[in-house]
Amino acid sequence: MHEPVMVSEVLEHLAPSRGGVFVDCTVGLGGHARALLEAGATRLIGIDRDPDALARAGDALTAFGDRVSLVHGDYRNLVELLEARGVAAVDGVLADLGVSSMQLDAPDRGFSFRRDEPLDMRMDRSSGVTAADMLAAADERTLADVIYEFGEERHARRVARAIVEAGRTRRIETTGRLADIVRRAIPRKGYSRIDPATRTFQAIRIWVNRELEGLDGFLTRAADRLAPAGRLVVITFHSLEDRVVKHTLRALQTAGGITIRTKRPQVPSEAEIERNPRARSAKLRAATRSEQAVRA
Ligand code: SAH
Repeated sequence: MHEPVMVSEVLEHLAPSRGGVFVDCTVGLGGHARALLEAGATRLIGIDRDPDALARAGDALTAFGDRVSLVHGDYRNLVELLEARGVAAVDGVLADLGVSSMQLDAPDRGFSFRRDEPLDMRMDRSSGVTAADMLAAADERTLADVIYEFGEERHARRVARAIVEAGRTRRIETTGRLADIVRRAIPRKGYSRIDPATRTFQAIRIWVNRELEGLDGFLTRAADRLAPAGRLVVITFHSLEDRVVKHTLRALQTAGGITIRTKRPQVPSEAEIERNPRARSAKLRAATRSEQAVRA
């Protein structure tokens, strides 16, 4: 089951009881979208790059009828996606980044190191390059950088070397084989609660989906689409993402377009983390568009 993260915080910042148009840039299974609609959003535009997620969101949101429009696309194309629907300004924007538990748990998407499945990892299977193809084409140096940066894996060099060497013998086609290669490359030191393949799988997923590229530009354009007093909420699950969000919001505030609502990022309560493991590393930042801001 996918439970939306930090729902009460999201509602508090986005204030959908004002009514108006809200964009959920990562509609996923529709958990946040449903909460926004129930709390008073007049219209909701839900974007996702994963067609499977959109189908699930569609099921979850049928009760709201034509108050909901679902859009297959990348939120980095937000402006074009809104313009194609004749929407100039919106009252709230939500982005809940990363992967959904539906994607992680699906038996055939290639995100899971707990099962043996084809090594795909694309959020949008209608375009792009699979993890298996990216690994087959990568050099050791690039791979080590990816695993170190996106996975914060101390043993990135060893892991990269092991992957490249194993791939020379036989192309790496499955999550099970990749997980074995990674686990064997990492020195075992006592008992660890997390699987040693976790960090490398996260890194490869971020790389395959280019998750950090264009995040700053997206935030700038999202803030620019907000009506005066419109609200923006971003939830991240990785320190690199949070850093981009923090710096971009600060730059936008300095330029006079927005006021940051969260001096420090908000994190879920202990109780929520207990209930919903996906919440564990969540960080939420929010901003309000200035009343007098001029649209670029
Ligand atoms: N808030 C949702 C869960 C979101 S999980 C809920 O309550 O159910 C994150 C979702 O973002 C995933 O479905 C993923 O496919 C989508 N996503 C990730 N990057 C994206 C991008 N660049 N553009 C559009 N959707 C993206």
